[in-house]
Amino acid sequence: MVDARVLMGKPVARALNDATFERSHEYEQINKRKPCLAVITVDDPASRSYLKTIKSTARKTGCEVQEISLKPTADIPGMRQIINPLNDDPGIDGILVQMPLPKGINLHDAGLAINSNKDVDGISPYQAGLLFKSAKNALIPPTARAVMEILDFYQIGLSGQEVIIVGRSLVVGKPLGLLMVGRNATLTWCHSRTRSLPMVCKRADVLVGALGKARFLDSNYLRPGATVVDVGINVDEDGKLAGDVDVQNIQSIVAAYTPVPGGVGPVTSACLYANLLDAANAALIPIS
Ligand code: NAP
Repeated sequence: MVDARVLMGKPVARALNDATFERSHEYEQINKRKPCLAVITVDDPASRSYLKTIKSTARKTGCEVQEISLKPTADIPGMRQIINPLNDDPGIDGILVQMPLPKGINLHDAGLAINSNKDVDGISPYQAGLLFKSAKNALIPPTARAVMEILDFYQIGLSGQEVIIVGRSLVVGKPLGLLMVGRNATLTWCHSRTRSLPMVCKRADVLVGALGKARFLDSNYLRPGATVVDVGINVDEDGKLAGDVDVQNIQSIVAAYTPVPGGVGPVTSACLYANLLDAANAALIPIS
């Protein structure tokens, strides 16, 4: 078999960021300010690293970032006290509440607190509802949007294809499944209770790893010629960054795969800003 195609994220992210830059320039001409993203963050190594990427993508896309810190001890009313003024601030176009959240707050609480028109992470019930209805103006969770952008960029069609997604979280597996069914894929969601996981995964034309277990999916889970999308970002026992897919083990049998790092990751932050511009421009349309 010929070498697998490596579906690099960088060119996809660059194309998206360039398009967003054009849109934010246009936005600035009209509104005399740059589109602005508020990022609410609890100080933690993982959020610090993502925040660095968020700030660097802001520069590439001509957007601004306002960083607001949330105490690790904050409760739901405390979080709302921070989010409410941002919800009402006309100078803020999008709000992102970074993971990990304080102990007493979950993703659903955060989604309920955010003005859904500014919900660039797609975690509010309103945005999830739009996605459920396949509405074109839904703000889609950036990671799910990123996977679709990668498949589109590399012209990997989904219609009639058997897609298996391992993972059913609110921000990755579930929204991605809805998007793929919207493109006429035949979809199976797998999770921690799925029986005979290797056998189910072996059916996939497109296999998506979104379970958060370093190098879990190896050749036992893949049929020759499949396309593999690796969403996982994990740190293995040796402290090394690893995806959910064991790339060394599958490289010779698959048709194409996204690497970690350098695959879905860079495209995710590009999609966050594409969402910011979608939110900012939607706010300009008068409600009649
Ligand atoms: P999550 O909320 O922990 O969800 C993990 C999902 O995987 C759950 O549905 C869980 O099943 C399933 N799962 C866990 N262990 C399994 C197993 N042994 N067999 C089958 N299914 C299993 O994680 P997430 O937020 O979706 O993130 C998933 C991965 O993507 C993580 O590595 C995360 O760091 C990464 N991520 C990457 C990006 C990016 O930009 N590339 C963005 C977000 C997340 P149950 O529902 O049954 O518990």
